[in-house]
Amino acid sequence: MKIAVLPGDGIGTEIVAEAVKVLKVLDLPLEMESAPVGGAAYEASGHPLPEATLQLAKDADAILFGAVGDWKYDKLDRPLRPEQAILGLRKHLGLFANFRPAICYEQLTHASSLKPELVAGLDILIIRELTGDIYFGQPRGRRTAVDGHFPGAEEAFDTMRYSRPEIERIAHVAFQAARKRNKKVTSVDKANVLETFQFWKDVMIEVSAQYPDVELDHMYVDNAAMQLVKAPKKFDVVVTGNMFGDILSDEAAMLTGSIGMLPSASLDKNNKGLYEPSHGSAPDIAGKGIANPLATILSAAMMLKFSLNQPQAAARIEAAVQSVLAQGLRTADIWSEGTTKVGTREMGDAVVAAITTTTKTIKS
Ligand code: NAD
Repeated sequence: MKIAVLPGDGIGTEIVAEAVKVLKVLDLPLEMESAPVGGAAYEASGHPLPEATLQLAKDADAILFGAVGDWKYDKLDRPLRPEQAILGLRKHLGLFANFRPAICYEQLTHASSLKPELVAGLDILIIRELTGDIYFGQPRGRRTAVDGHFPGAEEAFDTMRYSRPEIERIAHVAFQAARKRNKKVTSVDKANVLETFQFWKDVMIEVSAQYPDVELDHMYVDNAAMQLVKAPKKFDVVVTGNMFGDILSDEAAMLTGSIGMLPSASLDKNNKGLYEPSHGSAPDIAGKGIANPLATILSAAMMLKFSLNQPQAAARIEAAVQSVLAQGLRTADIWSEGTTKVGTREMGDAVVAAITTTTKTIKS
């Protein structure tokens, strides 16, 4: 099983190193090869997604990705900015379905900014469409306005669009995921204002006819943002477009205690996937050794489950994460009174130790 390891920028290198360490103790036939991506690749070769990196990703069975970006690249032309690397990988590899489970571990109910009773036992799944919407729609750019409120003024514009097959395929992904859970899909849209999302809603309703066992409801995105902090446990599977999903999944991350806890999987139609934490490269804490590696470690577990058909190995990682949390170990972002603060590397070591201990117990 060949894994392309793309650490990227900022804390990306620190957290991916911990996930790789964890994968290595599992005793699986994993072949891991690294390549630069994002700002690191721009520095090395003048492009955020060099051909060799893209080829490695294409040839691999799965991709483990850290994060890209740094404010120092904000002045570069858009095609050369680090973030274009992740957008390019999603597009070139057809990674249209993004899974972001938001699970609040029992030990972290107090790390959430919400009242413990609102998040205790939380287990929701946000499914974000990843290759369409305003992020990829053409045309886009800057020009002189010919109409609008200020004709003749400089303006910028993007295009929000979704085709029927794009909506249908993400709808099937959501309904099938809900079948394995609590059989409820909430489709989040802005159908009251946007034509694109009235179409989204219509297609969702059509596809739902094929899944009579799954309940479908609809929510406007502004209400969904409110309900996620008011009563998050009433959701099961949330399916939405690229931009709304980007925002709502960060909001959902905070329900779990920290964005440093939220893994993600981005899958193509054959379940080949790119696995990355939901957060960015966190330049504010990069190089300090304090980033939480658990979202990346849990992303590696998702990789074993979804793309490499190793559910038992995935379960071992998840159990090890539970175990280190139960031991009271916390990185700064999830630390609270009475727990032990550890750095990135110590947290990775603790997960490795928890896996090794269980392995020894099973063998003896
Ligand atoms: P961010 O997610 O990097 O950071 C937001 C906040 O969360 C920061 O305070 C950061 O310190 C904290 N944080 C993030 N991950 C953490 C972790 N593992 N442990 C502890 N704290 C953590 O978002 P941002 O600051 O808006 O963006 C920084 C850069 O990352 C930008 O260049 C942005 O474009 C890029 N970005 C990349 C991706 C990606 O690679 N997929 C996603 C989002 C943002």
